[in-house]
Amino acid sequence: MLRTWFEIPLWQRVITALILGVLTGWAWGPDAESIKWIGDFFIRSIKMLVVPLIFFSLVSGVAAIGDLRKLGAVGGRAMLLFVVTGQISVWLGLGLGTLVAPGSGVDTSAIEMGATPEPNPTTAVDMILSIVPESPVQVMADVSVLPLIVFSMLIGIGILMAKEEGLPVQKVFDSGAVIMQKVTMVVMELTPFGVFALMAWVAGTLGFDALLALGKLVALNYAGCLLIIFVMYSAMIKFLAKLPVRDFFRGIIDAMAVSYSTASSNATLPVTLRCAERNLGVSNSVASFVIALGATINMNGTAMYLGLATLFGAQIFGVDLSWADYFLISILATLGAVGAAGIPGAGLIMMALVFGAVGVPLETIAFVAGVDRIMDMMRTTTNVSGDAAVATTVAVMTGEIDTGEMVSADDV
Ligand code: ASP
Repeated sequence: MLRTWFEIPLWQRVITALILGVLTGWAWGPDAESIKWIGDFFIRSIKMLVVPLIFFSLVSGVAAIGDLRKLGAVGGRAMLLFVVTGQISVWLGLGLGTLVAPGSGVDTSAIEMGATPEPNPTTAVDMILSIVPESPVQVMADVSVLPLIVFSMLIGIGILMAKEEGLPVQKVFDSGAVIMQKVTMVVMELTPFGVFALMAWVAGTLGFDALLALGKLVALNYAGCLLIIFVMYSAMIKFLAKLPVRDFFRGIIDAMAVSYSTASSNATLPVTLRCAERNLGVSNSVASFVIALGATINMNGTAMYLGLATLFGAQIFGVDLSWADYFLISILATLGAVGAAGIPGAGLIMMALVFGAVGVPLETIAFVAGVDRIMDMMRTTTNVSGDAAVATTVAVMTGEIDTGEMVSADDV
């Protein structure tokens, strides 16, 4: 029985749990609240991962940039494209969230609120002071993400500066990052149970409006990701790489299919590499460097979603956000996407990072967790396509591509 359970792919178990949860909630009504604790258990387990996951993966990510110096031109261009496309993506998420307002109109008075995170610092001076960790240990204990990010980046830079002597510690962080990914996978096994309980609770206590709001969020997530893939990446390939867009997508179709079904950039990595080298003619050195780095730090789908989900939470719980908050979200969502590991559900974990900084209740995570997997699949496809698009563009810019190798869309 247990074996059969684990033989079913996680995403199928999650989707089934989602449907059963909604049906149970409808049948059971407000009393479905009595199983919400199962969902809370799941959310608590996710929150447990935030600090160690950010700490290990950010330090090891920054330390990995050591290669940038060697690869100079390639690394610099790739980083520039990662940052620019990441920012465009977050603002797209913020734009869609503001225009469509998927979270407005839901009556959340039935939700018992836990501790609302501290709102962001009010003045610019407060803001600057708040990013300097007075005590790194305190910062971790309080889950204060902004100073934690600053501290982690500094450690990463320190490792780079220490060169040879920094290597043993770098290895510790690399291995810590891998271990945290494994722990996350264990926690993700709780997803079907958490999703079942949370959807029953949402459907039972908040009713149809809440489900409609979630439906809108999922639709916007798909719309945003499709715009990123088919408008932003197409433009990059057409205008920067000057290659036929159709051939590019034909070349990466396998990676897109694998990423959609696994919801993991890391798991898709070997396929993305193969597509870039064999179907697009990108040189091995550029492909392996840019795509491996991209799988860890370049996550435009995740960045877009973090922006969108923060607005969703703010709308659901009536939190007013100022322009300063929007800018803070744009920075944190980009960092969250960098810090997110390329594994299923990583974006969900990073929500705690952005929400906490702008005072959006963490209950939002419970609210959206039930439908996260469906959105994660599309986010991951966006992330992986972005890695391939940047690798191809950088390869063209640095003359590291053999377009004779490129498959044509007509070869299908
Ligand atoms: N699952 C995504 C990835 O692997 C990350 C996320 O959850 O947004 O790229």
